[in-house]
Amino acid sequence: MKIPFNKPVIVGNELTNIAKTVLVNATTSGDGEFTRECQLWLETTLKTRKALLTHSCTAALEMAAMLCGVGPGDEVIMPSFTFVSTANAFVLRGGVPVFIDITPDTYNIDAALIEQAITPRTKAIVPVHYAGVPCDMDAITGIARAHGLRVVEDAAQALLSEHKGNALGAIGDLGCLSFHETKNIISGEGGALLINDESLIERAEILWQKGTNRKNFDRGVVDKYTWVDIGSSFLPSDLIAAFLLAQMQHAEQIIARRRAVCARYAQLLDPLKQAGHIAFEQSSAGNGHIFSILARNHDEQGRLLRHLRALEIGVVFHYIPLHSSEAGQKFGRVASSMAITDDVSSRLVRLPVFYELTDEEQQFVASSIASFYNGPRG
Ligand SMILES: *Cc1c(COP(=O)(O)O)cnc(C)c1O
Repeated sequence: MKIPFNKPVIVGNELTNIAKTVLVNATTSGDGEFTRECQLWLETTLKTRKALLTHSCTAALEMAAMLCGVGPGDEVIMPSFTFVSTANAFVLRGGVPVFIDITPDTYNIDAALIEQAITPRTKAIVPVHYAGVPCDMDAITGIARAHGLRVVEDAAQALLSEHKGNALGAIGDLGCLSFHETKNIISGEGGALLINDESLIERAEILWQKGTNRKNFDRGVVDKYTWVDIGSSFLPSDLIAAFLLAQMQHAEQIIARRRAVCARYAQLLDPLKQAGHIAFEQSSAGNGHIFSILARNHDEQGRLLRHLRALEIGVVFHYIPLHSSEAGQKFGRVASSMAITDDVSSRLVRLPVFYELTDEEQQFVASSIASFYNGPRG
C-alpha cells in the first residue's frame, strides 16, 4: 500500500471553467471575470474589505511588505517556525526579520514574547496560523495598536479557520492566503491578499497592476493610465482563477473531509499517545491542513521517518527553523530563546492528509507507527 504525503484534490469542474475563459470569455490575462468572482467569494465568505488574487502567497506577502512601508533596517517580528516566504518578503525590502519562539500547544508565535522584541525600528508583527490554528489575535492586535505597528497575517494554511468568529486573514491590517498545490484549496500556484484596512486598498491595487493606476482607468476615474508607484505583476492569469473558483465552490466540503481525516488519526493514535510513545496536539480549531506527531527525540524522528518511508508512506518533517537557516542568520535577528521552536522541529513528523485518503490507508499509517514502537505485532 503506497500512500503519498499529498494528493491534490480535483473537484470536477475546473476544466469546464478553464474552457470558458478560452471559448466564451476569450480572455485569459489577469483581472478577468473568474478573478473577480474568486475575489468576491473571498470578500463575502471571509468578510474582508478587499481581496486581490495573486500568483502565490509569497507574492501577497511581498505586497504586504510594500504596503507596510518596510524599508532598509526596519524590523518585523515573526516566528522562526515558518516557511521562508514569511521572512523573505520583508528582506526583499531591506527589512530585518526578528524571530521569536512559539508556544508548545499551538506551534504559533508566543504573543507574550512580542513586546520585549519591539524596538524603535519595529514596523510590523507577522503571526503565522500554523495548520490553520489561530494565533492569539486579541493579544497581537492589542500590542500592535499600543505601539503603532502593522499586523500582517500569514494565513497561507488557514483558509476558513476562525478566531472568535472572525476569519483568519481578515483580522490584521492585511492577510495572505495560499492556494499552492499542497494547501487545502488549490490552483497549482496561487494566493490572495486580503486588505482589511480600507486606507490600503487603493495603493494595493496599484502595486498589483505593476505600479500603474490601471484600476482607476478601468473604472473610468482617470482617462489614461500611467506609472504612479512601485509595483509588479502580482496578478494571476484568469486561467488560474477559473480553476480556483471551482475549488472555492467546494471549499467547505474539502475542509470538512480533511478535518475528519485529522480527527480519525487522533483516534487511531491515541493508544500510542497514552503509552507515552508519541505526543500530538489535536486542535479542533484547525482546518485539517496538517496532522503531525512528535517523536520523543531527534534521533527517533529520523528513525521513524525512515521506517515509514520504507513502507512507502509519505511523511515529512516541518521547517528547518528560519533562525538556524543560512539566510535567516544572514538577514535576521533572534529576540528570544528558541527552545520550543528547536525542540518541535527536531521531533515533528507530518502524516499524509488529503481529501481522498481512505480509512484503510489511515489504519495502515497508524499500525505502521505502532509497529515502529511496539515491534511487528504491536
Ligand atoms: C505555503 C506557505 C507560504 C507560501 O505560499 P506560496 O503560495 O507557495 O507562495 C507562506 N507561508 C506559509 C506559512 C506557508 O505554509
